[in-house]
Amino acid sequence: MRSPSWRALTRWGVALGLCACLAGSGCADQDADMPRTKPGQPVAAANAPGGPGVPAAPAAPIPDAVREQAAAQIRAAGLSAEREVAARIAASRAAAARKWGLAQTPIAAPAPPATRPVLKSGPGVIRHGDLPPVVHRVPTQDRVVFLTVDDGAEKDPRFARMARELGVPFSAFVSGYLARGGWAYFRGLHEQGVVVNNHTVNHPDLRKLGYARQQQEICGEQEVAEREIGVASRLFRPPYGEFNQDTLRAAQSCGIVALPIWNQEAFPDRIEYRYDHRLEPGDIILTHFRGPGEWKGDIAQMLRRVVDTATAQGFALARLDDYL
Ligand SMILES: [Zn+2]
Repeated sequence: MRSPSWRALTRWGVALGLCACLAGSGCADQDADMPRTKPGQPVAAANAPGGPGVPAAPAAPIPDAVREQAAAQIRAAGLSAEREVAARIAASRAAAARKWGLAQTPIAAPAPPATRPVLKSGPGVIRHGDLPPVVHRVPTQDRVVFLTVDDGAEKDPRFARMARELGVPFSAFVSGYLARGGWAYFRGLHEQGVVVNNHTVNHPDLRKLGYARQQQEICGEQEVAEREIGVASRLFRPPYGEFNQDTLRAAQSCGIVALPIWNQEAFPDRIEYRYDHRLEPGDIILTHFRGPGEWKGDIAQMLRRVVDTATAQGFALARLDDYL
């Protein structure tokens, strides 16, 4: 747990300082840096309780013991306030976990990195010169994995509510033709902190298209997202995870900075692992906005499986966009 912020201490300090003033402990040096005179006014006249011409009584200094006691009160008040907030958050997460039938309360994600990891060619990252990197696993030591939800056919409000109440972040990769007529759902996700990223306009296999058509698919979806959500995407996922050099060039020309692929795929009834049957820090998990028509189960069951799997293996779910 972090110690109370200086802003919080200052707030408490102001309150306690005010109390000390009211109790007569003396406030003589409280505004030492503030000018106490109007321009041209003699200092003695300004400070004198009896008005101009009457000498001011010397201010009583605050005893060290009072200062130390006040500082201890400030620290105790700040810590107990912070503990209370943390306890309330933990209780609300535990209640949400029970409500949605999770095996355990999900692990809270650590604060996102102050700067995003540098993406060099190596395990989990493929770079082609200065073109946007292709990322299967984010280079990080944090015990985090990332859930990404693709396409956009099923727009289940229960799924959005469940993720919000559990405090589980995810990133969406939306294909325009599937979102058409249903952008309000994705605007709602955006408002709850889900970043809506680019997954082309028509979901083609981009390797079958030339550079110009690929650019239309990617830049075209950027325009749609800007119109419907208000922001263009930084991340782009090629449909089926298939791409070629033209895809990277086209994506770069549309303002894309990275192409996240995936190492696991989640379904309501199972997780499919690309390598070992375990998660690794920085793994990207793929799933889809789908429902019982295409799955043995619904999207809420899928989320339950992902969160329970991550928690059982000691991982928190974090937001991909904070790391790439
Ligand atoms: Zn897709």
